[in-house]
Formats: sequence, structure tokens, C-alpha cells
Amino acid sequence: MTLTRPGTLSEALAILADRPLPVIAGGTDFYPARQGRPLPGAALDLTGIAGFRGIARDSAGWRIGAATTWTDIARASLPPAFDALHAAAREVGSVQIQNAGTVAGNLCNASPAADGVPPLLVLDAVVECASVAGTRRIALADFLLGPRKTALLPGELVTAVLVPDPPPGARAAFRKLGSRRYLVISIAMAAVLVATDARGRIDLVRIAVGACSPVARRLPALEAALIGQHLGPELAAFDLTDDMLAPLTPIDDVRASARYRRDGAAELVRRALADLAETPDG
Ligand SMILES: Cc1cc2nc3c(=O)[nH]c(=O)nc-3n(C[C@H](O)[C@H](O)[C@H](O)COP(=O)(O)OP(=O)(O)OC[C@H]3O[C@@H](n4cnc5c(N)ncnc54)[C@H](O)[C@@H]3O)c2cc1C
Repeated sequence: MTLTRPGTLSEALAILADRPLPVIAGGTDFYPARQGRPLPGAALDLTGIAGFRGIARDSAGWRIGAATTWTDIARASLPPAFDALHAAAREVGSVQIQNAGTVAGNLCNASPAADGVPPLLVLDAVVECASVAGTRRIALADFLLGPRKTALLPGELVTAVLVPDPPPGARAAFRKLGSRRYLVISIAMAAVLVATDARGRIDLVRIAVGACSPVARRLPALEAALIGQHLGPELAAFDLTDDMLAPLTPIDDVRASARYRRDGAAELVRRALADLAETPDG
């Protein structure tokens, strides 16, 4: 396979406009997806594009470049609202996978079990895409259309993931359930972002669960039920009703039964809430 490694975004976009090459970043999804099949004759390597890697802050929020790796995220100093993303970064595969795998690759691969998605959903992340025709921004929830399906158009690249400034005092937690503790695809995972008022009552909460539906989903009825609740250890026993879990449509597969996934997701949410109760503001 011939890898073309452009140094600038405009060069990369011009190449793609000319010829629809497969795109590769860390390759940690690209290569396994082609196991047992011949590789394409040519591909476009995104890792040399200037400005594609790294996390930057501007007046509107945070910009995570498309070639930013999970290790970059794990090592970055970020506000507490990013703690779920931080924790997910340390749970993606192994250290070797985290060194090569990128945030954008995780999103573009669009696996229902992509660990990066729930933490970015609770951050209200937006995906920045570019082609020779220009740049557009798509809410992450609209970018992910289904398993292996995204809103990316032919000739487009993801250039960055944008995170608006999180609400004041917000902090987040991530919990993942797998068949073993390390180097494992999620059976379910949950990210929770909360902020509390002066009396310790939840006044903002966002919850997203992954691997229990074709794309990770927010749980609006559960979020509504938590508003006004004291953020304390009692949330470890919070009753998650069917109505609150309605957006989840887990399936039976080699990793788990639908029932186990659903119950596991509910428990992960309770544990993430309890984690946040144990780490109060400041
Ligand atoms: C052993 C192993 C363990 C793993 N464990 C986990 C895990 O625990 N959790 C998890 O979520 N994932 C896991 N993964 C999957 C993978 O590591 C992650 O999804 C990673 O973030 C993918 O990033 P990448 O840069 O390697 O993507 P690539 O493999 O380079 O690309 C993935 C897809 O995205 C496209 N793409 C990449 N970047 C762009 C861009 N900027 N614009 C447009 N398209 C783009 C590619 O064309 C390809 O279709 C694992 C993989 C392996 C091999």
C-alpha cells in the first residue's frame, strides 16, 4: 500500500478531491477492519498535517485536532468537565493503542462501542469537517448516523473536535464495563457530567451511554429526574426506571446479552454519579 502523507490540510483536501483515497490516522481501526483482505493500493495518511495534532484553547472553547491521540488526551491538563474524556483515554485498548489511536479516528470509525463518544456527547462536542468546498460543523449527535456510518461526505476530512466552554463548576466521570479489566471492548460505558448549586443539588446533568444502541445516546428522562437531587452517595442506589433508559436498545451478541448490557449500563450510571458525589467541587 502506498501511503501519501501530505504536510498541509489544503494539500490533503486537494488530493482527496482529485481521487477518493481511503484515509488513515493511527490505523488501529483501519488495519483490523481489513484483516484477511488485501489492503488498498494507496491511502492518505493524516498524521503529517500541520496543526492536526494537539489541544488548543480559544475564546469559544477547546479544539482537539483530528490527529490528537488518546495519549495526548490522557496527558493533557484539562478542566474537570473533561474528566470523563480523560478516563476514557486511559481505557482505550492498551498504551500502544492509545499512542497511535486518535480521537477523530474513534468517531469516524463509528463503532457503537467507541469509548470516546459518551464523554464527548456530555461535553456537547461538535465535529469540524473540511473539504475543498469549505468547512462545516456538525453536533456529534448528528455526525454519528449508525454503526460505521457518519455524516462525513466524500472528499471530507474531520479536522477537529470542538468542545464549547463547559458550564461553570461542571465535572465528569466515566465508567466502562468489559469482560476483563484491561484491553477490552466495552459491553457498556457511561459518561456523566454534573454541576451543583450552593446546596449541593444537581442543577445541570448530562448522561450518555454507549454500546447499548446503534450509536451512544443521551438519557434525557433520567437527566430530568436527577435535577434537584442532592449529589451524594445515596445516588449509588438511584432507581433507573425503564422510562429513563428508553433510548437504549441493547442487543444480544458475543460480548453480552441485551439484559446484562442494560443492567450493566444502569449500574455504570449509578457508579459514575457516586464517583462524582465523592469528588465535590474544588
Ligand atoms: C487492540 C485494539 C484495542 C482497541 N480498544 C479499544 C477500546 O477499548 N475502545 C475504543 O473505543 N476503541 C478501541 N479500539 C479501536 C481504535 O483503537 C480506536 O477507535 C481509535 O481511536 C481509532 O483511531 P485511529 O486513529 O487508529 O483510526 P484509523 O484506524 O486510522 O481510522 C479509523 C477510521 O476513521 C477514518 N478516519 C480517521 N481519521 C479521520 C479523519 N480525520 N477524517 C476522516 N476520516 C478519518 C479512517 O478512514 C477509518 O475509516 C481498539 C483497537 C485495537 C486494535
